[in-house]
Amino acid sequence: MAYDSENIFAKILRGEIPCSRVYEDEHALAFNDINPQAPVHVLVIPKGAYESMDDFSANASKAEIAGFFRAVGTVARELALTGAGYRILANHGADARQEVPHFHVHIFGQADLGPMLAQRPA
Ligand code: 5GP
Repeated sequence: MAYDSENIFAKILRGEIPCSRVYEDEHALAFNDINPQAPVHVLVIPKGAYESMDDFSANASKAEIAGFFRAVGTVARELALTGAGYRILANHGADARQEVPHFHVHIFGQADLGPMLAQRPA
């Protein structure tokens, strides 16, 4: 599937749609999620056009991958989440219910985040 350059995060990267920015460097942009699921809910996205974790891990350069994941750690540190703890999550594809087709890592924190996954009905 080709990358959709009209997805909402691509528009945020181009400055066509505003975001509540918390961090930016050469490889990554981080901003608050519009519909937070925890007291801290930040999205970290690479600056390159990658649809999901699968696309990013297969096709991004070593510098992009290293820079991106270093940025995820930096954001968590700058938000003072490392002491109490935090959770990162990336949804890929339909089973994970990925909504936005631009790779992103969620960072959740500042609360007991509960079990790793919601309990599914038996
Ligand atoms: P996904 O399900 O793809 O892993 O998560 C997409 C996330 O993007 C959701 O948590 C959703 O609230 C967030 N989101 C969708 N549209 C926007 C937007 O326009 N701005 C921001 N800041 N977050 C958005």
